[in-house]
Amino acid sequence: MVYQSTRSDSVRADAAQAILDGLAPDGGLYSMHDFSEIRLDWKSVLTLDTFGMATEILSVLLPSFSHDEMAALVQRAYAGKFETDALTPTVPVGEDAILELFRGPTSAFKDVALSMLPQLMTAAREKCGVSDEILILTATSGDTGKAALEGFCDVPGTRIIVFYPHGGVSAVQQAQMTTQAGRNVCVCAVRGNFDDAQTGVKNIFSAVTENGLLDGKGVRLSSANSINIGRLAPQVVYYFRAYADLVNAKRIAVGDPVDFVVPTGNFGDILAGYFAKRLGLPVGKLVCASNANNILTDFLRTGRYDRNRPFFKTVSPSMDILVSSNLERLLFLLSEDAELVASLMGQLKAAGAYEVPAALKAKLDAEFWAGCTDDAGTKEAIGKVYRDYGYLCDTHTAVAWAVAQDYKAQNPDHAPVVILSTASPYKFPAAVLSAIGARADGDEFAVMEAVHDATGVPIPKNLASLRERPVRHRDVIDRDEMLSYVLGKATEKEW
Ligand SMILES: *Cc1c(COP(=O)(O)O)cnc(C)c1O
Repeated sequence: MVYQSTRSDSVRADAAQAILDGLAPDGGLYSMHDFSEIRLDWKSVLTLDTFGMATEILSVLLPSFSHDEMAALVQRAYAGKFETDALTPTVPVGEDAILELFRGPTSAFKDVALSMLPQLMTAAREKCGVSDEILILTATSGDTGKAALEGFCDVPGTRIIVFYPHGGVSAVQQAQMTTQAGRNVCVCAVRGNFDDAQTGVKNIFSAVTENGLLDGKGVRLSSANSINIGRLAPQVVYYFRAYADLVNAKRIAVGDPVDFVVPTGNFGDILAGYFAKRLGLPVGKLVCASNANNILTDFLRTGRYDRNRPFFKTVSPSMDILVSSNLERLLFLLSEDAELVASLMGQLKAAGAYEVPAALKAKLDAEFWAGCTDDAGTKEAIGKVYRDYGYLCDTHTAVAWAVAQDYKAQNPDHAPVVILSTASPYKFPAAVLSAIGARADGDEFAVMEAVHDATGVPIPKNLASLRERPVRHRDVIDRDEMLSYVLGKATEKEW
């Protein structure tokens, strides 16, 4: 399968090249052209264990790698790294099911993809005969940063710089990143919000490619954000895992539709669900759940995307996003029209807004439903799920749970619902504690203890040991300093 830019039919790459490059040279995202060439026997995939599923699915999505090569990469990425080799368990909660994506090394759903990406990246480097060191640049709203640092830590031939919004991540997330060990890792705060950091990273990529700023320096840039297709593809697997788990639990029969409710930020997680559907999995509606930054709710309801609006800091910060990069891939796959996508993205850049044609809006309506809730609704959901079902969820999961209930109420003929859970409640302990009606004094670590005392839910080991670890990264810069920061770091021999 050939990958192409979402903005031009003539910009093409194979999977390995697309993984190495991250962003396409014209500023678009690499996307498969269409799914019609892909052959996947999805029913037999459902009978495999998670590693087997990952091998099958990833070797059809990323055909630069053979089945056997992929099996080895999957082993290296996941074996022994998660709480269970099933990777992502599905648990019944009331009449719904919750798909727990946070059982990995940093207690974030991004571990699923970011354990796999470094393996794909080093394999792609070999396939493409690249001898340059790969410098990963990542902007994070909190969870990606730590998961990427952990995934790339001391992986030969790679280095990684993570930018996070100064004061824009939780204390636990910040501690996770600033205490990261490893010879090839660098962490830096940027004064601004996540969109500023993400735009800054995108601008560095264009400046470096257009002006050859790193030519001949033995370094090339790549990305670990969900704009990288090697980051997106591994996320398709857990939709199959959850579906198979529902079949095995006899909650559905093979072939029955399942609706998935996804707490959405950059649109990667939910887009992976759309990929799963295009690979044959009987996905019903994909429900896009947002917090007070409800730009996607408005877009999916009206067809107009308009980022000219206030930005809110919420208790679900990983969804505090106004420009959802991966939406571009969906627009391309639904319209099959790179020229249209280029024009919409041009309007977004120039005026901060665009409106999709009616035909495209109709296709969106057929696949997606959207809803949102604010911080009050989020906390109410945490309290209710805990009181009614004894299940403790984090703030992002709570947004999805609340939207799932609205979705079911407004769509009585809905399919069985799976709610994606994207973080451990211990990553956002202050909001969780107040939502269950308890209080604590002291720092966020004391609050974690208090959540544990109140609920008995175990604290993940990687978080419990954080407080003792020394801070190793203290840089803070302005957003217009990001380029010179990267150029400086790129040419330092030792970090
Ligand atoms: C990244 C993240 C999300 C949003 O996922 P996208 O793929 O960006 O839509 C939701 N919840 C948590 C906890 C996250 O870290």
